[in-house]
Amino acid sequence: MKLVDEIERLKAKKNAVILAHNYQRAEVQDVADFVGDSLELARRAAETDADVIVFCGVDFMAETAAVLNPDKKVLIPDIGAVCPMAQMLLTATLKEARAEHPDAAVVLYINTLAESKALADCVCTSANAPAVVNAMDAETVIFGPDANLAYYVRRRSPKRIVTVPEHGLCPTHHQISLEDVEAARRQHSRAKLVVHPECVPEVQDAADHIASTSGMVRFCKQDEATEYLIGTEVGLLHRLKKEAPGKCFHAVSETAICPQMKMHTLSKVLRALEREKPVVVVQKEIAEAARNAVERMLQVGK
Ligand code: SF4
Repeated sequence: MKLVDEIERLKAKKNAVILAHNYQRAEVQDVADFVGDSLELARRAAETDADVIVFCGVDFMAETAAVLNPDKKVLIPDIGAVCPMAQMLLTATLKEARAEHPDAAVVLYINTLAESKALADCVCTSANAPAVVNAMDAETVIFGPDANLAYYVRRRSPKRIVTVPEHGLCPTHHQISLEDVEAARRQHSRAKLVVHPECVPEVQDAADHIASTSGMVRFCKQDEATEYLIGTEVGLLHRLKKEAPGKCFHAVSETAICPQMKMHTLSKVLRALEREKPVVVVQKEIAEAARNAVERMLQVGK
């Protein structure tokens, strides 16, 4: 039996749902029940009535699904799918920043481990970061771990933003340079530049539009142009080409590949469903505190 058929059979038998991030391999996106960005996946995870969630994304995303669904089994096909950015924020650094700025609110990017989220007032994603920061009842906001996303927020918020750590970044987005943009523009001079806010400031400043991955898809579908340069992980191009078949998309950098996101394969998805492991477990006290910060985010913009 084909892998996909067997995955479908087991999914129905076990009342499982497959959630996949926009950066997943094309074949994993195609077998998923829902493909989206971190915010959409968190919302889906909160709403699902499935008994089992197979989460095709990195560790912090699967943890968020587990935090929102303490009574469900959350599986991650490859336990090695660990986001390096999430590892950059240590809880000790966060506690020091809290002590230094006692009146500040703490807003953490969803790209953090549950133990960090447990210390936050609210979580945000790239889709809602300025809205969440502006919703805080404090003049100063401790924000982390992505310094590039902090740059994006600063330009859209009157709040004083203190970054923790000072130079956190996504290696995949940080390597997309202004030189890459200029080279891509020389090749495709009529294309609009659409980038993710995890890109470096000079790439953001050059862009026609900055958005989360799903925001990029929405923009490209609705916009009147027909050709785009896409500044994010290359996995998004699969969804863009599928959902806007009449338009033309080029990666700003063909090497913007997140190795961690690509760890999940169809065989691993099938194996996870068969064995019902690896299971994502978040310690109860951490999960409860982290849930408050995630649920507060889910209320923003409702
Ligand atoms: S693309 Fe960047 S932020 Fe996203 S999982 Fe990969 S390393 Fe982490």
